[in-house]
This record gives sequence, C-alpha cells and structure tokens, in this order.
Amino acid sequence: MALLVMKFGGTSVATVERLRRAADRIIQEKEAGNQIIVVVSAMGGTTDDLLAKAKQISNHPSKRETDVLLSTGEQVTIALLSMVLIEKGYEAVSFTGWQAGIRTEASYGRARISAIDTSLIRPCLRQGVIVVVAGFQGMTESGDITTLGRGGSDTSAVALAAAFGASRCDIYTDVTGVFTTDPRYVDQARKLREISYDEMLELAYLGAGVLHPRAVEYAKDNHIELVVRSSFSNEPGTVIKEEVGMEKTKLVRGLAFEKNVSKVTLLGLSNSVSAVSRVFDVIASKQISIDVIVQNVLDEAQTNLSFTVDRDLLDETLDVLRTHEKDLEFNRLIFESGLAKVSIVGSGMASNPGVAAEMFHTLAKEKIKVKMISTSEIKVSTIIDEEKLPAALDTLHETFHLAEEESNSFRPGN
Ligand code: ADP
Ligand code: ASP
Ligand code: MG
Repeated sequence: MALLVMKFGGTSVATVERLRRAADRIIQEKEAGNQIIVVVSAMGGTTDDLLAKAKQISNHPSKRETDVLLSTGEQVTIALLSMVLIEKGYEAVSFTGWQAGIRTEASYGRARISAIDTSLIRPCLRQGVIVVVAGFQGMTESGDITTLGRGGSDTSAVALAAAFGASRCDIYTDVTGVFTTDPRYVDQARKLREISYDEMLELAYLGAGVLHPRAVEYAKDNHIELVVRSSFSNEPGTVIKEEVGMEKTKLVRGLAFEKNVSKVTLLGLSNSVSAVSRVFDVIASKQISIDVIVQNVLDEAQTNLSFTVDRDLLDETLDVLRTHEKDLEFNRLIFESGLAKVSIVGSGMASNPGVAAEMFHTLAKEKIKVKMISTSEIKVSTIIDEEKLPAALDTLHETFHLAEEESNSFRPGN
C-alpha cells in the first residue's frame, strides 16, 4: 500500500469551509487505497497575528516563548481538521510535532529537524487511521518546543515523507503550481509543468516563497517527488524532481526576488588579512545573516566592503558595527535601504556567459541601476532600487521568453 504525504498551507485551511474541502481531497486519496499523513499550517493569518501580539509586549520577545506561542497556530488546525474527517466518517488522529516524534536542533525560530521517531505514528497508519500532523514545529532533546522558520510546514511534510518512505509528497497551496515567477507580481507568469530540484532550490533560497528552501533540500537528498498544486482546483500541478525532460534546454527557468533589502558599506576598512573576517565575526555573533558581499580594494592599506542584510536586521547590524568601530578599523559606515534583489535562475546558464550580459543589458535599457551583483553556476542576482522591481521583473520575464513554452527559449545572440 502506498503512503502519501499531503500538506495544506495556511490559505488552504483558513476557514472551516476550506478545512472541509481539504478533507474531501484527503478522503479521495484514502479511498484510492493510500495510507495518509497530512501536514497542516496554521489557519491563514494566524502566525502573523500571534507575532503581532508578541510585538505588543516586546520588540525582542523571548525566542523560546515566541516558539511556544507560534506552535499553537498549527495545533488548532490539526484538531479542527481531524474533527472534520471524523465527522465525515473517517478515523483520524492529530499529532503535534513532538507527539509525532519530530526532534530538532536547539535553535529557536529556525530549527533544523535532526531526527524523526517513526514508531509513534506507524501503528495508526497500519490501522488505516488518517494521521494529521502539525507542521512547522518540533522539540529539542531537552524538551523545548521549536519552530522551523516561516513557511516551515513544507519542510515538516517532506521530512515526514522521507522518514516514512512515502511515494510522493503533495503540497497543496493557493496557486496551481510553481510559476516562472510570483504570479501575484507578473501577469505573464507561466506555470511550469516540472522543474529540477537544483533550480527549485535556488529559486526558493532567492525568495520564491512557494516552497520553504529546506523542504526542497530534503526532497533532493531523499529523492522525494514533490508536487505543488492548488487546493482549490483539480489542475495538474508542478512536479519537482531530479531530471526535467520537457524543458531541459531552457537557459533561464524562472525569476525570484526579495524586497526589504538594505546595503551596508564600511569605507576605508583596513586591508589587513583579518579585517574582513573580524567584521563578519561580530555580525555572526548576533546571529545576523548577511547576503550579497562586494569588496573593492582601494590601495595597499584600505578597502571598501559592502554587504546586504534584511531591512529588519539593519538597526542591529549598524549597532554591532558601531560598538566595535575601534577594533574593526574602518573610517566610515554608510547604509542604504529601499532595495530589492532580483535573480534569474536556470541550470542551462552554467555554460552560457551571455545570459548574465543579457540580464544587465535588459536592466540598462529600462534605466535600472544595478548596485551589486552575485552569481553562482545557475543564477545571477542583482541588487536594484525596490521601486524598480516591477519593471525589472516584467522586462526580464520578457527578455528570457519565460511566458513561452520551450521551443522559443532565449539563446544569447538570438
Ligand atoms: P502556503 O500558505 O500554502 O504555504 P505560501 O504563501 O507560503 O502558501 O506560498 C504560495 C505563494 O507563493 C503564492 O501565493 C505566490 O504568491 C508565492 N510565490 C512566489 N514565487 C512563486 C512562484 N515562482 N510560483 C508560484 N508561487 C509563487
Ligand atoms: N504557520 C507558519 C507560517 O506562517 C508555517 C507555515 O505556514 O508553513 O510561516
Ligand atoms: Mg508556504
């Protein structure tokens, strides 16, 4: 008998009516002869509401207590969905993350799953009971509740699929699949039939919120076929897997973006061998993640160092740098907000330098200034003014023919 993991996101479980609709889907798969593990998010808006309440109490609420608070959202959904399934005549049992045996490392707010004890759920599956697990949460060795980071229910679902050897993991959401870019921002965005793990991983890390990056990581490492599909229609979704057949030769598969980017620059930083590492050490000591980094050597003695951070972390970043101004040996600290990062992603671009050139050319034509650049084998990211983001997305989507099916894909020099 096949085992299927079905994950429903916040919008898909936002009301009792939607829970009923989700339950009908689950029953369909159950009646088709599958064993079922369902993973759910908090009802739409709940996590944001809980966070807002915590913020009324403190600007920096205790991380431990924040996780205790946020984990309640998913607990509401598992109970309600189980009730709906029972009401429809099916056996269903809810499990919190810890009841389901999900162990995590001890880092609040962005914990990684370290192990899953499958012995707790297995007996239910064997008896044909529908198992409903709270996403986004787990427990540390010492018994503290943790959460996996925003959007982390995707990761719970894939990790359970891997631990139980599921044949597939279906991610039900409010779009019909993975698109060439966020369809809320670009009208021309096109749904992809399939996409490789590597491309999806890159898109997810670069801001495509449709899947939690770590979920894609787990899926790739454990060869779990992921399907992203709509909980509101029966349209076929997007399959995420190792090899993509139909659109293999496409150079750029999609665009991702992040808003709320800030840039910090240290002018006249000492050119000593340890200066850069000392800067990043003090930032890391505050658990602040930095993103794009650019260094310009001015002369023998001095260098300018720029990097980006999330706008929400800017004040903390500036504080820690100012506190250590003396030991870090820099002349001036400047910063800029209101920026965005826009990235093109596609495994076909690895051996095609013309793709990056075409991206810069396209942005220049629209008078969009590129402030920083970062590249890897399968992506090019640029930092631009946030107000130019809609224009950048539209023009790049067009340049790389993303709205069109494979046969007309972009080739440098065409
Ligand atoms: P859920 O609550 O179901 O997990 P999310 O809001 O986390 O849903 O993810 C779905 C949203 O992701 C979509 O509504 C869409 O706006 C956004 N999104 C961003 N990039 C993409 C993309 N490339 N393809 C599809 N959706 C995307
Ligand atoms: N409820 C959490 C969030 O809103 C986790 C999730 O939905 O995946 O981020
Ligand atoms: Mg999500």
